[in-house]
Amino acid sequence: MDLKNLTIKKFHEGLMGKKFSAKEAAETFFSSIKKEDEKYGAYLRLTEELALSQALSVDKKIDGGEKVGALAGVPLAVKDVILIKDEIVSGASKILSEYKAGYDATVIKNLKEENSMFLGYTNCDEFAMGASTENSGIQITKNPHDTSRVPGGSSGGSAAAVAADLTVAALGSDTGGSIREPASFCGVVGLKPTYGSVSRFGLMAMASSLDQIGCLTKTVEDAVILFQAIAGRDEFDATSEEHDWSDVMDFDAERAKGLTVGLPEEYFVEGLDAQVEKGLDEALGRFKKLGIKFKKVSLPHTSLGVSCYYIIMPAEVSSNLARLDGIRYSRIIKDDAIEALLDIYKKQKGEGFGEEVRRRIMLGTFVLSHGYYDAYYAQAQKVRRLICRDFEKAFDSGVDAMLTPVYPTPAFKIGEKASDPLEMYLGDIFTIPTSLAGLPGLSAPVKDYKVGSGELPIGFQLIGKKFREQDILGLGRLYETSS
Ligand code: GLN
Repeated sequence: MDLKNLTIKKFHEGLMGKKFSAKEAAETFFSSIKKEDEKYGAYLRLTEELALSQALSVDKKIDGGEKVGALAGVPLAVKDVILIKDEIVSGASKILSEYKAGYDATVIKNLKEENSMFLGYTNCDEFAMGASTENSGIQITKNPHDTSRVPGGSSGGSAAAVAADLTVAALGSDTGGSIREPASFCGVVGLKPTYGSVSRFGLMAMASSLDQIGCLTKTVEDAVILFQAIAGRDEFDATSEEHDWSDVMDFDAERAKGLTVGLPEEYFVEGLDAQVEKGLDEALGRFKKLGIKFKKVSLPHTSLGVSCYYIIMPAEVSSNLARLDGIRYSRIIKDDAIEALLDIYKKQKGEGFGEEVRRRIMLGTFVLSHGYYDAYYAQAQKVRRLICRDFEKAFDSGVDAMLTPVYPTPAFKIGEKASDPLEMYLGDIFTIPTSLAGLPGLSAPVKDYKVGSGELPIGFQLIGKKFREQDILGLGRLYETSS
């Protein structure tokens, strides 16, 4: 069984055509992961027993002539922040190293109903805080295209596993770019859905007004299949909404030609790496050849996005992570020096949380504190409103989607930015505004284009209107199938 470039689509065809069984697929993937993942460190934990029982049940269904869907038996990797019942899920944090999930996240429940197969948990920045996966409390992950570089983050393990053919597709989460940026660095497709398209129930909360679960896949077509399976209203997440996604696949050149795509002038500025700019030009040229119309638009508050996000996000982080007091959910450290409750908190949190998580909890606590609340948090909420309005105005001016870079540079070197958090934060400039406005964003690799020493892919970003995933997925699919 050839795992190279194995998509959901091809897997389904192979399984249905009896070229392999789901059990054989499971065994092949696990043996490749065990042999090859040492080079990349994409996986933290494998869920072999679960996968095998899922595979056997798919094989039984097929042998019994039962009809199965497009995701049946499909090997998926899961970012270490999404709960799978009875499996250890740690948020790539030491503090949760022994935490076993008591229930399935809604996306997992949906995918179990589709008979998918879960290979294991992938590495990420601790509690999804970061852009390089270097903030993981467990290990670092390397970019399969160049192992001296980061895979991006925070869903770096998921992106690397897809890029290295160590899974067919993966789930990630995106709060300010964590699906789109690693997708761009690793040359895979990443979809961050509209805030509210996919249930957040069972996702470890980082910043609840921004978090969304989404997919990392090899093709846009696969992203559509996976998205359709996880999207929808869920009674356990009051912010989720029901929408009709059935026509996402009915997108053709004719429909695409009716769309106008905006080019926000604030996204094509100094500081954008020349090779990234050239890649974007390539993508733009191809879209134009396909008949897509383009129009300049302005998003004037773009430059405020990073500072606005780095106030709102830590504020939410500090309250969400308060539940991790070192007693609930945590491993118990035995230490005779512990006398009082405060000692437990100090020891458990001090040793359990990494530096970046501690920084954000403290920042968040500060911006929410009495006397500073108005100056920081309330002000940032107003700026967030302005950023949302920028997008509304641009869309009202007659554009259906926008084309932008995902990240100012290709994948950077491991260690290059690790000691400078501000430098790391600034890189999020092109993904954060979309998150603040709750819009869907797709990162897809620029075709036949590599930078650096000829190894590194880069992606372009398509931003859509709220709950109009079909526009960006349709455009992405059109691009991907163009010759
Ligand atoms: N890089 C951003 C951050 O560090 C985004 C993280 C994310 O989307 N989870 O917060």
